Amino acid sequence: MRKPELGISCPGCPHRAAYVVVKDAVGRGRGRVFCGDAGCRAVGAMHPAATTCPGGEEALLPRYRQAIPDGTTPVAKVCAHFIPAEELLAPSAPDAFSQLALEGETVLLCALASSARFLDKEAIEHLESCARNLDVRSTTVLDPFDTLASTEFIRSLPERGGAHTLIFASPCAQLLQTHSPEPVEIDRLGCQGCHRCKQLTGCPALVFAPPAYTVDTEACAGCDLCTDYCRTRVIMTPRARMTPAERRELRVCIAQSSR
Ligand code: SF4
Ligand code: SF4
Repeated sequence: MRKPELGISCPGCPHRAAYVVVKDAVGRGRGRVFCGDAGCRAVGAMHPAATTCPGGEEALLPRYRQAIPDGTTPVAKVCAHFIPAEELLAPSAPDAFSQLALEGETVLLCALASSARFLDKEAIEHLESCARNLDVRSTTVLDPFDTLASTEFIRSLPERGGAHTLIFASPCAQLLQTHSPEPVEIDRLGCQGCHRCKQLTGCPALVFAPPAYTVDTEACAGCDLCTDYCRTRVIMTPRARMTPAERRELRVCIAQSSR
């Protein structure tokens, strides 16, 4: 049985995928700030810059902007701010996010749409229309598990500059609990034990059993996130022939049928 652990997001969590893909696309280091809160009670407050898990520390951005001894105030080159998508629906959202462009040269407001209320196409379209009321240059809906499309899109933003809203839409792993897609498998003979899959995704279903990794098949939710980050391609998915759109459709159908 899959159990969420305090501070570690569940296997198959779409919030984890959103954090992983944004951090991988934007890169780490000076001038890159990741802040916010996924709004998931299973995770609690975590520092998103230091972990692959969702959840965040509201204090991070103001601390980054504190004046340094020579009197200048740093401006983030890229600031990725994570919020639960429900916050976009609040009537106060345009005021609450009106300062976005001041937070960095490029600001990504990443709205995490994973609760049951966002399973329908209409709900996502409504969310999109609310996001367009904000003072942002663009609003886009992405599947965080479509790492290729998401990475490509996010990497194009710093060149354009300004504030952008990204709606990451994929059902919460807990909505798939009873009928999760089949787990992945690791070819232990081919695995080099490099830890990259675990370090990047932080998924608790990936277990190091020296000298190689293995998958806890009871815990794995079949999200396929780890398969995209193994450079030696030894993580095998039963969904290898499916497109990212088909995989998303599968997750949405399972979540809808469990309502
Ligand atoms: S597919 Fe990989 S990242 Fe997704 S739940 Fe299974 S082990 Fe974790
Ligand atoms: S990234 Fe691939 S090769 Fe490296 S430890 Fe994970 S499964 Fe093994």
